[in-house]
Amino acid sequence: MTNTKSIDPEADCEDFAMATRLVHGGTLRSQFNETSEALFLTQGYVYDSAEQAERRFKNEEPGYQYSRFSNPTVTMFEERMRLLEGAEESRATATGMAAVTSALLCYLKAGDHVVASAAMFGSCRYVVEDLCPRFGISATLVDGSNVDAWEEAVRPNTKLFFFETPANPTLALVDIAAVSAIAKRIGAVTVVDNVFATPMLQRPIEHGADVVVYSATKHIDGQGRCLGGVVLGSKEYINDHLHTFIRQTGPSISPFNAWVMLKSLETLALRVRAQCDTAARLADHLVGLSGVQRVLYPTRADFPQAEVAKKQMKGGGQVVPVYLDGGKEAAFKFLNGLKIIKISNNLGDAKSLVTHPATTTHQRLTPDARAELGITDGMVRLSIGLEDPDDLAADLERAVRAARS
Ligand SMILES: *Cc1c(COP(=O)(O)O)cnc(C)c1O
Repeated sequence: MTNTKSIDPEADCEDFAMATRLVHGGTLRSQFNETSEALFLTQGYVYDSAEQAERRFKNEEPGYQYSRFSNPTVTMFEERMRLLEGAEESRATATGMAAVTSALLCYLKAGDHVVASAAMFGSCRYVVEDLCPRFGISATLVDGSNVDAWEEAVRPNTKLFFFETPANPTLALVDIAAVSAIAKRIGAVTVVDNVFATPMLQRPIEHGADVVVYSATKHIDGQGRCLGGVVLGSKEYINDHLHTFIRQTGPSISPFNAWVMLKSLETLALRVRAQCDTAARLADHLVGLSGVQRVLYPTRADFPQAEVAKKQMKGGGQVVPVYLDGGKEAAFKFLNGLKIIKISNNLGDAKSLVTHPATTTHQRLTPDARAELGITDGMVRLSIGLEDPDDLAADLERAVRAARS
């Protein structure tokens, strides 16, 4: 099945530690022996003979055929991600949503049932709540933090569990090991959207999950440039389900975007560590400011699911939800009072960003659905970047003062 992969055995990083894998994993050198990974900006590949073309199409010989199926730069990115995640196989996609949609639709069919966490990225909720039912795939949304709720939602035709942890935008957690164990018992596949944690802080497969999806658009690029996604899982899941789905339906990543992601992985560990350090420090700082009702951060002792965080995460991440006194008006004054931190619905960037979920990313939900998820009018979501922590603290203080004025 993986005939299009021809990884140089010298680049096999299985024995190396994470930092080394991030720099060397998956490297494929051309005949020019370049130091930095090459960008193969090509749609197709030529064959030495008609016989060779026939062998490639019959899967009798490894090699590339067409960049919708695979491309050497994309292969390098996929392999580096695979080594990082500790998965058997991986496929890159054009966006995070292409990864989510492919991961679900390649596996499910009419008559199947999905259980998913209600606290999810808006577009993921659309896929589960609106798109799947159009094709006869029913779905039940549960409070993902309640392990019993997963058990109770199971039906005889349940084929897949899907959740994001920490979830956007409140950082609600799902106990990966406990929920994956329920899925395993009933023969369902567990798919985890691991965007917020990144592979540096949480590796769901180690806790029993089957499939992990990423929006590489976020921390993996980390510099706000390209869209991309990745799906990782077992050989069986990727080769028997996802491989053909991607090959035939075409949510493939551009080699250029894959190259940007590949090079960004070299600094992922450094960036995530710095962002987590600053986010943890700013969370503590914000708690003490008047006008701030509540701050959520997974490594703080007052985090509602601190025990789950400790069990499955190596750090708190770089997203900080903040609840301000004074509702929407205060939240808007806060956003408008920031100078360094920019108003944007993105996250994981080197630039610190802020968004007001109730009026942007989650405006599609009814007020009741928002309230259930803890998205109030006074809540803002910070995505902490790589700026100087003192500059950011001063910016936040200024904005909190503006929110009270
Ligand atoms: C951004 C995001 C997505 C979608 O990724 P795109 O690259 O924007 O398509 C999916 N899940 C989560 C948790 C995200 O933050």
